[in-house]
Amino acid sequence: MRQWLNKLSEKNARRLAISLFTLGLLLLAIALWINFRTQDDGYTLTTYAMGSYVQQTVYGSNSEEAAQAASSAVTKLENLISWRIENSDVARLNQKAGTEFISIDQQTWDVLHTALEVCEASKGAFDVTIAPISWLWNFDEDPRLPQAETIQSLLPEVDYTNVSLLDDGTAALQTHGTAIDLGAVGKGAACDAAVSAYEDSGAERAVVSVGGSVGVYGEKPSGEPWRIALRDPDSEGSLGQLAIPTGFLSTSGSYEKQFTEDGVTYHHILDPDTGYPAESGLVSVTVWSSSGVLSDALSTACFVLGMEDSLPVLEQFQSGAVFITTDHEIYITENLAETFTLDSQTYTLAGTL
Ligand code: ADP
Ligand code: MG
Repeated sequence: MRQWLNKLSEKNARRLAISLFTLGLLLLAIALWINFRTQDDGYTLTTYAMGSYVQQTVYGSNSEEAAQAASSAVTKLENLISWRIENSDVARLNQKAGTEFISIDQQTWDVLHTALEVCEASKGAFDVTIAPISWLWNFDEDPRLPQAETIQSLLPEVDYTNVSLLDDGTAALQTHGTAIDLGAVGKGAACDAAVSAYEDSGAERAVVSVGGSVGVYGEKPSGEPWRIALRDPDSEGSLGQLAIPTGFLSTSGSYEKQFTEDGVTYHHILDPDTGYPAESGLVSVTVWSSSGVLSDALSTACFVLGMEDSLPVLEQFQSGAVFITTDHEIYITENLAETFTLDSQTYTLAGTL
């Protein structure tokens, strides 16, 4: 009997030991998993497209795949909407101006559709048919002050109502001299394309920046918002930060591309009414929106419109903005005011709009 009892407890003890060992292994695995998750610094990838760096940080188990997919998506978009690329949708539209309707890719159609909404809402302060004038200034390659008469002769060609976009997926430019330049929305659209790629490839969360546009995707595990730094116009440092849970930010700044001739500085954000760089008392505008195309179109529109006239347009698209004036003052729309923290010593927070 005793022997039998000993045998039983030996058996139980062995079972207990095995159970404890398994539990220990399980706890170790959980600890390692938590550690891995909190230590996930993300996969970073920097590529070049649309004349800018495309910087991504993607989190999750398939982050590398998702980042590569996003990079390809941006290149694919560039091949559709850049006027510089032969046979892109926009190049074909420009080439066929004043002749016929052509079929365009759904992605090009979507970008044009949103862009045209902003053209209308801003009463042409943002105008996708700025090309004849932006080509003249040539800010991207060899900027120069054009002849005043040349600007005057080309200004009538700048008119977004010459763009026809039909529901059947075709588009046309109504007059021969019309041409499209989507330079003001390309980088925001690229952020949209990247975020769609994250969705499709099941990335956990990610942040992408293309030039002055940023898109965030997914939630941080802590539930904290994403902190995005805004550039100080006078330096490469940070002016301040916006804490956004979701969405897209685009900045249009006069400091991005400029040149000085005979003591006058000219920048690349043009007023379609005059054909000259917009003078609205602003150095930069950062716009937050639910889509990248929208934030990029609005940032250019708001720069041209100036602070006061921007407000109804921002409201129409449920967007918000940070305006930096030439007087070193910062104004923020009410919907973003709480999310902003100032880093700069040389700019002052002057008010909420
Ligand atoms: P960035 O290209 O530096 O991100 P923006 O988004 O403001 O800045 O776009 C500026 C570009 O958009 C210019 O280089 C030009 O190609 C084009 N552009 C300039 N003025 C306008 C305008 N009023 N409406 C539409 N596009 C514009
Ligand atoms: Mg823009």
